[in-house]
This record gives sequence, structure tokens and C-alpha cells, in this order.
Amino acid sequence: MSHYLDRVPFSGIIRIRDMMYSVTDPFRLDQGDVSFDAPDTVKEAMRKAIADNRSHYLQTTGVPRLLELLAEKLRTKNGTPVGSPDEVMVTTGGIHALYVVCQALLDPEDEVVVPDPEWPPCAGNVLAARGVPVPCPLHERLGWRYDLDELASKITGRTRAIYVNSPHNPTGGVLTRGDVEAIAAIARERSLWLISDEAYEDVLFDGRKHVSPASLPGMYERTIPIYTFSKSYAMTGLRLGYVAARDAALRDRMKKVLFYTASNVSSVVQFGGIGGLEGSQACIEAFRTELQARRDLFYEGIRAHASDVLAGEPPHGAFYAFLRIDPEWSAGERTNGSLSWAMTEYLISKGRIGCVPGVDFGAAGEGYVRFCFARDRRELTGALESLKGLLQGVGPNPAG
Ligand code: PMP
Repeated sequence: MSHYLDRVPFSGIIRIRDMMYSVTDPFRLDQGDVSFDAPDTVKEAMRKAIADNRSHYLQTTGVPRLLELLAEKLRTKNGTPVGSPDEVMVTTGGIHALYVVCQALLDPEDEVVVPDPEWPPCAGNVLAARGVPVPCPLHERLGWRYDLDELASKITGRTRAIYVNSPHNPTGGVLTRGDVEAIAAIARERSLWLISDEAYEDVLFDGRKHVSPASLPGMYERTIPIYTFSKSYAMTGLRLGYVAARDAALRDRMKKVLFYTASNVSSVVQFGGIGGLEGSQACIEAFRTELQARRDLFYEGIRAHASDVLAGEPPHGAFYAFLRIDPEWSAGERTNGSLSWAMTEYLISKGRIGCVPGVDFGAAGEGYVRFCFARDRRELTGALESLKGLLQGVGPNPAG
């Protein structure tokens, strides 16, 4: 057993999941999973793959047809100048793509600048590759974006990469084109890699547009974009992600990690991915429209039933409400002095409402709590009903 792994933490989301099992009729707003189902194009292609006995070993980096479709998608939708499909590799979900990239890119003690707060597997995967995650705050006052001077100040002689994630989990922050250009300039000047986690590339609201860093002039050479079918095609449990890289030496290393961790991604799932890409893309827009409606429904409920204690602007991307807790709120017991944990435990035990303490995403998340609004409307409405009376009137400035 490697003692090294004892230093890699599990996400608190797992502790929450265990707590939720003891709750009868819970509202699972803790889970970052969509309530939608995968489109028929994906399911039909998987049925056909099973009927056609596509149950054998495949090429390590992916079925050629899938790689060809992904290379084309990267070129046309993301504006990334992918040459041949050999530059693309499929993975067992986005989390596996991140694992593969960190293992292939990092030497021990290499630093990676990561957002704070951030989806916990980001720092976890850097640590698992024996690297050092260096947190850089995202600021609520900037719409959960970087102070770019602060970001530049985090770069040291040991920095190997900057990891960016836009739209962002857990805050819903979206980087502007100006932000992406400035981050690209830092990466170029300091000869750094950019790991760009674009899991939520299709989940943007209010007319915001996604900018893929690898689409900027000269940036694909030093950018490793990571994508997943989990959100765009509601395929969280099927596990299909992909990554692209121009650098052949890096790709060789990534291929080894892929091979030794998966041999190849599940054949049936890869054929499902082909079905998803070859068929209509209407589900993506339908999901986005519905998610925007759910966001508005959720924030309306928070304003009506919890505005004394929970506050925050509706996000422009992803599907999480990352809400600030009034520091004076005191209805719960503070676990290790954490307001985030106190609120989470209070809402789970008193309201059956699953949520995740902001501090689980990093020190800058303390004092916040995350709810996922990608759950179906009934579950959201149920949670909001349950919230009635739990927070209103218990804060220091009622109706404030
Ligand atoms: N990146 C971010 C920021 C995420 O939030 C997630 C999923 N929660 C992923 C990547 C990866 O998702 P998956 O492994 O399901 O593809």
C-alpha cells in the first residue's frame, strides 16, 4: 500500500452522501448530477453496439470514428485547431482525463495553480500525481473571477501549469474573453501549460459565451482541454470524457496512463458517444433552457424563504447556487468552527435538504454553501418548501 495516498483527501461530498442515506425522503441538492436522461441517439447506439457484439478490446485512445467526430467538434465548436484525430483521446469521464493529464504532465513537487474554491478532484488529482496545488482565490465581488494580478503573483519557478475551469464548479463563475486572453498571456510569458476543464462548456446563461483557451492564437500548443459527455448529454454514469493535446511526447505519456488505468474506455459507451455526436444536438439547448428556468425558480425561492441568511447573485454558468451565509447566523452547532458545515448539517437534519459546505471546495469557500439546481423541478420546489421557516426570522436582520 502506498502511504503517499494517505495525503490525498477524499471529498467531503462523500461524507455528505453518507449523511443523506440516513435521511428519509431527502432532497438531493448535494449531488452534481443532472435529472435529465441521455438522449435516444445515445441509447439506440448503445443498444446496437450490444446487438452487434461490440464487446471486445478496442484501440487504447478510442474508436477511430469517435476520435474523428471529436476532432471535428473541437475544430468547429471550440475553434481549436486540432490536426489529426490522433491528437484526441477518450477517457472514462472527465475525472479520468484530469488524472491522465496530471500523471503525464507533472513531476514531483511541480506546482499547479488551481482556483479556490474548486471541484475537489482538481487538487486531489494534482496531489495524486505528487504535484502541489497552489490555490488562487476567485472573488465573489468579481462575479467569481480572478484578480488577474493575484493570479500572476501565484506563479513561481516551480509552476508547471495553470488549471482553469469555466464555467466553474462550485460558483458558476464564467471567465470573459478578456480573462482568457490575459491568462493565456501569463501562460505564454512564463512558459506554462494551461489545463482547461470545460466540463460545463454548454451550460451558460444570460447570453454568455464560452471561450476555449486553446482557440486563441498559438495557445493550443500549450493548452490541454478536458471535456465530458456527463453534462452536455446527461451521461454521468456512463463515464465518457476526452482530452486533446498537440504535443506528441506528452500524448505518448498520456497514452501510457490511459492504457495502464483503463486499457480502453468501455466499448458500448464509446459507441453511445458516436450516436450522441452523429445525432441531433437539440438536447444540449433543451437542457440549457431548462437549467436556466430551474436556476431562476431556485433563486426566487431563496429570495422568498431564506434571504435573511443566504445571499448571492444567480450564476451565469454551470448549475450550482453558491450562497453566502450570514456570519451572524447561529441556529446550528459549528463543526470545527465552520459556518459552512454548521449550515449544511442544519439543512440536512432539519430540512432534509442535501447541500455541500463551501469549505469543502477550498479555504476561500468557507462561509458558503452549495446547492445543485440541476435536479428536477419537483425536487427543487420540495426543497424550497422545506426551507420555509428554517432560516427566515432567525438571522440578525430580518427582512433585511
Ligand atoms: N470538471 C468539473 C469542474 C466537474 O464539476 C466535473 C463533474 N462534477 C468534471 C470535471 C468531471 O465529470 P465526469 O467525471 O463525470 O466527466
